[in-house]
Amino acid sequence: MKILENVSLAQYSTMRLGGNARYFAEVKSNDDLLGSLDFAKNNGLNFHVLGSGSNSIFQDTGFSGLVIAMRTMGAKETEANNELQLTVGAGEIWDDIVKLSTHKGYFDVASLSLIPGTVGAAPVQNIGAYGQQVSDVIDTVRAYDTSKGIFVEISNKDCEFKYRKSRFNTTDKKRFIITSVTMRFCRKNIAPPFYSDITNYLQSHHIDERTITPIQLREAISNIRAVKLPDPADIASCGSFFKNPLVSEAEYSQLSTQFPELKSHKTDDGNLKLYAGQLIELCGLKGFHDQETGMATWKNQALVVVNESAKSTNDLLKFKKIIVTIVQKKFGITLEQEPEIIAV
Ligand SMILES: Cc1cc2nc3c(=O)[nH]c(=O)nc-3n(C[C@H](O)[C@H](O)[C@H](O)COP(=O)(O)OP(=O)(O)OC[C@H]3O[C@@H](n4cnc5c(N)ncnc54)[C@H](O)[C@@H]3O)c2cc1C
Repeated sequence: MKILENVSLAQYSTMRLGGNARYFAEVKSNDDLLGSLDFAKNNGLNFHVLGSGSNSIFQDTGFSGLVIAMRTMGAKETEANNELQLTVGAGEIWDDIVKLSTHKGYFDVASLSLIPGTVGAAPVQNIGAYGQQVSDVIDTVRAYDTSKGIFVEISNKDCEFKYRKSRFNTTDKKRFIITSVTMRFCRKNIAPPFYSDITNYLQSHHIDERTITPIQLREAISNIRAVKLPDPADIASCGSFFKNPLVSEAEYSQLSTQFPELKSHKTDDGNLKLYAGQLIELCGLKGFHDQETGMATWKNQALVVVNESAKSTNDLLKFKKIIVTIVQKKFGITLEQEPEIIAV
């Protein structure tokens, strides 16, 4: 394993912004991982674990320590009694797993088609879409526990999965470096009702909801997403840039008298989730191109911020401030950023 110096991080974030990493290592095995951690320790450096950077924004000052890019690859597959078990290296691409499992006839993660990123990052925020989440299939996560200095196996329950959360991005943030994930797939059937986007797609493509196959569902989701979201291979973005804000019932009833069109969704804790994309759209900021910063909101989904010609992360942060200020003024709600800004 080579430890590189002064590597541009813009190429390792789908937002394509940010300065240099002082040191950078591509980790392909457990030995590489231990070697890179030794290097960081011996040189008194912080480290940052990187997947494919689709939820990570690097600052203009870059990262002063060691960036550890997880590239542990490979997939072990066993199938028996209508159940598929996969143990997959952290560096594998998540969508390849969706492709493999749907092609083998399983529905479990078909709705997670086309979510960018690596397998190792998927448990961190418990990726999800259209009613499915990766925690539905995770059996165990294998990781290096940096606080104990040993490799460990963590059961699904002990990952403490919640909506877009796990212990890996909350209580134990940065403690575990995930090296592989074991998943079990068993859903051979799926029944309507589907999300309205999916139902509309299936109707317009004359596909019967009751006899849909996993491959057809994957295709439907992929095509729906391709229309709504920019492809990170062509357009620089980190997907949804703002979290959906939560408000109390009282706040919602006040807001909805003034803005009756506001959509909401009741959460388990009795609060109401509003849609950040709708708030931005109602401010007239869908498809808003800012010449000064070179940033824009996406034409088909205001929640997505894209980098058209920005020169720095500072440009992105200026653009964010414009959106946050306008939304705050109109609704009294302060939008919070979704992708992680990596500390220097
Ligand atoms: C166009 C677009 C659409 C998106 N749509 C969705 C969506 O529908 N649903 C959804 O949930 N997300 C979505 N995302 C967000 C993104 O796909 C996920 O957050 C994904 O899991 C990030 O993977 P990554 O490998 O790029 O992670 P990175 O951005 O590299 O890392 C994300 C976090 O995970 C940590 N991490 C990465 N690898 C490891 C590891 N091996 N061990 C420990 N920690 C690790 C990093 O330190 C960082 O904190 C979207 C992003 C984009 C750009």
